[in-house]
Amino acid sequence: MEALLDVKGRIFNIQRFSIHDGPGIRTIVFLKGCPLRCRWCCNPESQEWAVQKIVTAGVVKDVGRDITVGEVMEEVGRDRVYYQRSGGGMTLSGGECTAQPDFTEALLKSAKFSGINTAIETAGYADTGIFERILPFIDTVLMDIKHMDGVKHREFTSRDNALILENAVYISKNAKNLIIRTPVIPTFNDTETEIGEIADFVSSLGTVKAMHLLPYHRIGSDKYAGLGRQYTMEHIKVPEKDKMNALLEIVNKRGLKGQIGG
Ligand code: SF4
Repeated sequence: MEALLDVKGRIFNIQRFSIHDGPGIRTIVFLKGCPLRCRWCCNPESQEWAVQKIVTAGVVKDVGRDITVGEVMEEVGRDRVYYQRSGGGMTLSGGECTAQPDFTEALLKSAKFSGINTAIETAGYADTGIFERILPFIDTVLMDIKHMDGVKHREFTSRDNALILENAVYISKNAKNLIIRTPVIPTFNDTETEIGEIADFVSSLGTVKAMHLLPYHRIGSDKYAGLGRQYTMEHIKVPEKDKMNALLEIVNKRGLKGQIGG
């Protein structure tokens, strides 16, 4: 156990009392680094592995710090009483936690050793062997499926979707609980056909009961300027409620438990 607590990784935030990233009240550990570059990403400071400077309200701050598993668990352990009452626990988010496999595995093992419920949020773009290593220590996997068309997927996220879809099959067979999440992004994947194709795939996995549709939003768009980058989605409108309800119906028709929001 001591060796696990000494494993080091890089994070950019720890957020307590979240109710959106898995069951119950949770502490979210945001890991630094992601192999994708989604145009709509609301955590652009998560993407680079390097510790960066960000300007927020005129103040320059560092984004990213190295930390041991023991230090993270100390923080996560503070809200144990809330986890017990609500069925919550620790969620690893990012960035992409599978981009730091040793740190992620050690965090998940330590949490399970301490009786804390675990979840990860993943884009699914990692060697399948990494999921093989970490799934035994995860209670809930929240996985994104963003598009069924590989060309469009690459155009908007910088990566093809073949590995992601392969991993979805593996995870669906081996995870205790898999929830699929689809960000609904106008001009990318917001047609009934596109959401229908994703829902068909999710339904074909056989073990997935829930599919969440996450409407596009602009929260986090100001961080791009703070990082010296340009936000390229300025012209994209937030999807209307009626539109989201129509897409939800498509998901529900496949026998999946659809939900708008995470
Ligand atoms: S996978 Fe998530 S963290 Fe990575 S770029 Fe896309 S939205 Fe951002």
